[in-house]
Amino acid sequence: EPDDVSGLPPGVSDKLRTEGVTELYPPQESAVKAGLTDGESLVASVPTASGKTLIAELAMLAAIERGETALYIVPLRALASEKQTEFERWEEFGVDIGVSTGNYDSSGEWLASRDIIVATSEKVDSLIRNDAPWINQLGCVVADEVHLVNDRTRGPTLEVTLGKLRQRNTALQVVALSATIGNADAIAEWLDASLVDTDWRPIELQIGVHYGNAITFDDATQQRVPVANGERQTPALVADTLAGDSEDDQGSTLVFVNSRRNAESAARRLCDVTTSALTEKEQASLAEIAASIREVSDTETSETLATCVEKGAAFHHAGLAAEHRSLVEDAFRDRQLKCIAATPTLAAGVNTPSRRVIVRDWRRYDSEYGGMKPLDTLEVHQMMGRAGRPGLDPYGEAVLLAGDTETRDELFDRYIDADLESVRSKLASEPALRTHALATIATGFARSRTELLAFLKETLYATQTDTNGRLKTVTDTVLDYLKRNEFIMQDGETLSATGLGHTVSRLYLDPMSAATIIDGLRWAEKNKTTQRSALQDNSTEQATGSFQPASELVNSKHDTHQDSDESTVRYPTALGLYHLVCRTPDMYELYLKSGDKERFTQVCYEREAELLGRTPSEYDDVRFESWLSALKTGRLLEDWADETSEDQITEQYDVGPGDIRGKVDTASWLLGAAEQLAGELGMKTKPIADARRRVEDGVRAELLDLVDIRGVGRKRARRLFDTGIQDSADLQTAEKKTILRALRGRRKTAERILENAGRTDTSMDSVDEVPNDSTNSD
Ligand code: ADP
Repeated sequence: EPDDVSGLPPGVSDKLRTEGVTELYPPQESAVKAGLTDGESLVASVPTASGKTLIAELAMLAAIERGETALYIVPLRALASEKQTEFERWEEFGVDIGVSTGNYDSSGEWLASRDIIVATSEKVDSLIRNDAPWINQLGCVVADEVHLVNDRTRGPTLEVTLGKLRQRNTALQVVALSATIGNADAIAEWLDASLVDTDWRPIELQIGVHYGNAITFDDATQQRVPVANGERQTPALVADTLAGDSEDDQGSTLVFVNSRRNAESAARRLCDVTTSALTEKEQASLAEIAASIREVSDTETSETLATCVEKGAAFHHAGLAAEHRSLVEDAFRDRQLKCIAATPTLAAGVNTPSRRVIVRDWRRYDSEYGGMKPLDTLEVHQMMGRAGRPGLDPYGEAVLLAGDTETRDELFDRYIDADLESVRSKLASEPALRTHALATIATGFARSRTELLAFLKETLYATQTDTNGRLKTVTDTVLDYLKRNEFIMQDGETLSATGLGHTVSRLYLDPMSAATIIDGLRWAEKNKTTQRSALQDNSTEQATGSFQPASELVNSKHDTHQDSDESTVRYPTALGLYHLVCRTPDMYELYLKSGDKERFTQVCYEREAELLGRTPSEYDDVRFESWLSALKTGRLLEDWADETSEDQITEQYDVGPGDIRGKVDTASWLLGAAEQLAGELGMKTKPIADARRRVEDGVRAELLDLVDIRGVGRKRARRLFDTGIQDSADLQTAEKKTILRALRGRRKTAERILENAGRTDTSMDSVDEVPNDSTNSD
C-alpha cells in the first residue's frame, strides 16, 4: 500500500488514492523494497504504461522531503512540458517545478529555487558546462528512457551527463527508467544501482499480425477481420475495433505511421470510418473540441485537424502546436475520439492507452542506411505497449500489418519472437568523444589525459568493453585534434581549455564545427584583398569550359551575384557565411538529387570568390560532393534571405516548409556562434550578425529595421518598404492611409503594428476604406 512507503511527504498516499492508486503495482513495490524512497539508486526496466512515472515521482518526493532537489531528464524537448504538467499536481505539497529548455548558453540560475527541474540531457550537460550552481544541490536524478544511451546522437550526452553528475556528487541517487531491454543489468552495473527488471504489465497484451482476412496472435489463435477487395487493412481494423457489441468493448485505435504527412493523410482517410460510429452526443462534443482547435490557430494544419476531429479521428505528431496535441490527447482519453494516427513521438509521450494499437509502418526512411529501415524491436514494443486501458479493456491488442506471407513471417521474426535488444554505448564514436572530451576538460572534470581516461572508465562504454584499448586510441586522436585546433593546451601533464576552447564548449558546438568556422573566417580575412580584385575584374565572361578543380581564386573569372552592385560587395558575403556554417557537422545538409551535381557545380564556379575556403578538387569526389551539398543548403538559406517565397523554395529544393524552418534555426544558432568566435579572435562580427539576422527573418538587409517590430514579418515589411516606409522612424510619421494600404486594409493589424513601433496615435478609425487587394493574402 502507498501508506506503507517510508520517506514521503505526509498526505501523498491519500492524494494517490484519489487518483485511483490504491496499491502499488508489483514493479513499484519492488522498487520501494530496493530502497527507492531512501535514496538508493535504481534501474527500472519495465514495459510501457506500467507505472514507471510513479516510481520516479516517489523517488523525487522522498528526495524533496529530505530537503534535496530532484532533476528529471527527458529524452525529447517536446516531453518537458508534458512532464511539467504531470508533476504540477504535487504543487499542493509545496513542490515547485521548473523546466529548462531553450538556449544552451545560460546557467539557469533561477532554477536554484525549484524542487524538481525538468530538462533534456543536452540542456543538463550545457548547464554543467556553464557551471549552474544548483547542480550541487541535487539529491536525486531521474533518467527517463535511459535505453536511449544506445542512440548514436543523443546517447553519449546522456551517458556523459550522468557520469559528471555522479562524479560531482558520489552520494547522488540515480533512478533510471528503461523500456524492457536485453541487458538492463549492464546499466544497473554501470550506475551501481539495484535492478527491477520485469515484463509485468497491468493489463494483458496480445500481439499479432494481420494478413489476409485475419489477425494471427502470438499464442497462435486467430481473429477474423475481413478486408473487402480493394479496401485497406487499417480502416478495416479500425472499423472492427469500433464494432464491439457492449459499450466497454467499443474501442479506440491508435495507428502508428512513419511521418507527419502520413499521419495527416491516414487521419483524413480514417475519419470516414469513425464518423458513422458517433452518437449525437459525441458529435456535439467533438464539434466543441474542433472549435477549440480552430481557436488555437488558423493555419491549414489546424483546419485539417479540426475537420478530422469533427468526424472522430485525429492525427498527432511533434509538428503540432502543444495546445493541439493536448486537446487531441484529452479527447482520446475521454473516449470522444475514436482513432489517432500518430508518429512514434506519441508512444514516448503521455499516457494515451487504446483498445487496439496498429503499427502500420514498421519501416522508416533512414539516410545513413540509405533507404527504408526496419524499426528497432524496442521502438515497436513501445508503440504496442500503448494497447489496453486498465479497468476498461479486457486486454490490449497490438497488430502489425503484412501484405504477403513473407512479410508476415518477417514481422513475427523481428517483433514477436525475437529476443529483446541489448543497448550499447555509442560514446567511442569520434564526434561524440571530441565534443565531450573538450567539455570535460573545459569544465575541469579532467585536468590530464589520465584523469580524462579515468572519467571515461566510469562510463557505460567502458563497462561494456573488456579491453578499453579502443577508448584510449580514440581519446588520443581526439586530444590531438583539440590541441591542433588550439581548443586545449598542454603544460606538462596538465590539460586545460584555451579561451577559444571554453567558448566552443559553452556554445555547445561540435569542436569540428568550430574549427571549420574559424578556418573559414580566417580565410575571409586573409583573402579579402584577393577577393576584391577578383571581383573587380570586370569580366562578364560566362563560364564556358568545364569546372577547374582546385582553381586558384585569382585565376577564376567571376560573375557577381545578380543583385549586388560590384562596388558595394562586402566580404564575407551572406552566401559565403551560409555555405560555411552548412559545411559544419552540426548542420544537416540537403542531399544532391539527380541533376543537382551539375547545377551546383555551376553555381560553385560562378560564386567561388564568395566561398570561405578552397573548393576541393573535383577528383576528390566525396569531399567535393559534400562541398556542393553544403552549397545547395547555403543557396536555400540565401534564397530565403533574399525574400524568395516559401512555396518557391519548397518546390525548387524539394523540401517541406518545416525543413526550411529547421535549416534556418540551425543556421541562426551556428551564425550566432560564429559571431562569438569572431569576437574572440578579434575579427569583425558585423557581417556575420547581418547574415544571421537576414536568415532569421528571411529578408534583405534593407528590411532588418522593419522586421524588428513585433507583428511585422518578411511580407509585411516588404510591402511597407515598397510604399516608401523604410524603417520604424518612417512608421511614426507616415500617412496612415499609406500604412493601411501596405497592410492590405487590415485595421487591427495596422493599429497593433503602430503600437509596437511606439507610435502614439494608432487609431485607424478615421482612415478611409482602402481597396483590399485579395489576390495575395498574408
Ligand atoms: P509508464 O511511465 O511506465 O509508461 P505510466 O507511469 O504512464 O507508465 O503509467 C500508466 C498509467 O498507470 C497511468 O495512468 C498511471 O496513473 C497508472 N498507474 C500507475 N501506477 C498505478 C498504480 N499503482 N495503480 C493504479 N494505476 C497506476
